[in-house]
Amino acid sequence: MKTLDAETKQQILDSIRTIPDFPKPGIQFKDITTLLGDSKAFRLLMDHLEARYSDYTLDYVAGIDARGFIFGAVLADRLGVGFVPVRKKGKLPYTTVSEKYSLEYGFDEVEIHIDAFGHNGCQPDGRSSRVLLIDDLIATGGTAVAASRLIENVGATCVEACFIMELAFLNGREGIQAPVYSVLD
Ligand code: AMP
Repeated sequence: MKTLDAETKQQILDSIRTIPDFPKPGIQFKDITTLLGDSKAFRLLMDHLEARYSDYTLDYVAGIDARGFIFGAVLADRLGVGFVPVRKKGKLPYTTVSEKYSLEYGFDEVEIHIDAFGHNGCQPDGRSSRVLLIDDLIATGGTAVAASRLIENVGATCVEACFIMELAFLNGREGIQAPVYSVLD
């Protein structure tokens, strides 16, 4: 298991900006655009993720709409595996499977294409596809729980759920069946 040394962690953490009261009062919004704009911090992060996951024998990286697409697509390319977008409802053109999750008021829904991880979620040799789920941040965990269920529902295997940041006091990781790794907390 490769984790980050304290100094590199701090460098990445320092590149993330916190915006108080966005999008509503009381929320401390973690703005990763400043991390993306800092070429040194972004590379340190991606080097770490590549090192951590290079021996996981993954078939796909699945990124959650929308910031998970950025980290997920770069990582998939570095690992030489496919990238799958987990999208908000109504955006994908082909046959989809979807999963609802609760918000503070009401619910939301995420979707993937039914064949995103191969027929019945399997590789041509018949084994279940190995998928890493990634997003920028886990808060209550609602989005990530729904996304990990989607992966399993189509027959693939969620081998780990990875987040750049975790708001640990919200215990969001508890509902996720797969192992959870957060780079920063
Ligand atoms: P949750 O389903 O509560 O775990 O929320 C996770 C999703 O909401 C992720 O896609 C995050 O990008 C976004 N999110 C939730 N809380 C924050 C926050 N404090 N700062 C930045 N993004 C957040």
